[in-house]
Amino acid sequence: MTADHDDPFDVARLVVAHDEANAYDAVVPPIAQTSLFTFSSYAEMEETYRGLKVRPTYTRGLNPTVRMFEEKLAELEVAEDALGFASGMAAISSTVMTFTKPGDRIVCVRHVYPDAYRLFETLLKRWNVAVTYVDGRDEAEVEAALPGAALFYMESPTSWTMEAHDVGALAALARRHGVLTAIDNSWATPIFQRPLTLGVDLVLHSASKYLGGHSDVVAGVVAGSKALIGEIRRTAYPYLGGKLSPFDAWLLIRGLRTLPLRMKAHEASALEIARRLAAHDAVVSVAHPGLGNALPTGLEGTSGLFSFTVRDDVDVPTLADALSLFKLGVSWGGHESLVVPAEVVRKQAAGPNSAIDFGVDARMIRLHVGLEGTDALWRDLDAAIDAASNKSRA
Ligand SMILES: *Cc1c(COP(=O)(O)O)cnc(C)c1O
Repeated sequence: MTADHDDPFDVARLVVAHDEANAYDAVVPPIAQTSLFTFSSYAEMEETYRGLKVRPTYTRGLNPTVRMFEEKLAELEVAEDALGFASGMAAISSTVMTFTKPGDRIVCVRHVYPDAYRLFETLLKRWNVAVTYVDGRDEAEVEAALPGAALFYMESPTSWTMEAHDVGALAALARRHGVLTAIDNSWATPIFQRPLTLGVDLVLHSASKYLGGHSDVVAGVVAGSKALIGEIRRTAYPYLGGKLSPFDAWLLIRGLRTLPLRMKAHEASALEIARRLAAHDAVVSVAHPGLGNALPTGLEGTSGLFSFTVRDDVDVPTLADALSLFKLGVSWGGHESLVVPAEVVRKQAAGPNSAIDFGVDARMIRLHVGLEGTDALWRDLDAAIDAASNKSRA
């Protein structure tokens, strides 16, 4: 080929310089944004389909960019393997459905993520899977519920109420009774809690939260042993089809690069705001695992999400509307600070879930403390609480 190598726009030159192995020496890996992968020959295609050669064929099964994210997450969670999903709920539902069958019973800590609870109360009930809810802080209650269960589903700290558990002790109880364990680790992330090292079998994440970290991805992941992840990969993953997209995997890889720095910043700022709220006379209580008692064994830090409950004479709608840095919005884990009044989500109107109360005090307010300046966030919150207290006094 007679390419003009002085012309930077000559495509032939690019092809000559292309190095398959290191992808142009790009510091950020390229995205394999493709639905399918072609074969060079009949023989190669046949070898692949017979399982003699492992290579991507179709992105619902295996994609190199998704695989890159899975490998990085497995390393962070000290897992043999991991599997990415289109959402945290896809990871949760596929995992739970892989390891349960009609007639089984799940033991679940109370106050898990509300949509996980709704999954158990709707679809799984229809499939004749029963659920026993337990207070994860009460080891005797947990142990009494375990015999005969197919799965112990954990989350620590729990959603909204922030009940933090001794995850290692609970995992040991489950192991003694031969019960498989899974935990939702979205809140702590592997930076602050590595459940597999505490004896849990499977660790789940909504990667939409801290792993992504920029509020631009909805994704999920499960990590664990090769055998358990292989079981999900062969059953629920391809056939329920909740696969992670290559572009979203690429955004997650981007997010992971700053995860330790972001978590330390969320931790410091949220702890400071939680302490100031606890000292505020309009606040009845603050649910933050870092206030009061020591953190349970295995939890090495705290993140930016916590709740507080205001006095009866504080007008919550006024408080919410008076905030400007804290935006009204669900989800969390991104750079931005967010607020959710419990009363609003308790009133969730549409669909079959409306009757399911997930057991949270109506006067509770959940905050996600983002990466803005702590003092600016506190001024915003303090002024809004003031406005809401004055209004009810007037
Ligand atoms: C958001 C969330 C989920 C669900 O994740 P999606 O990515 O929204 O499906 C699961 N667990 C916890 C703790 C969450 O906050």
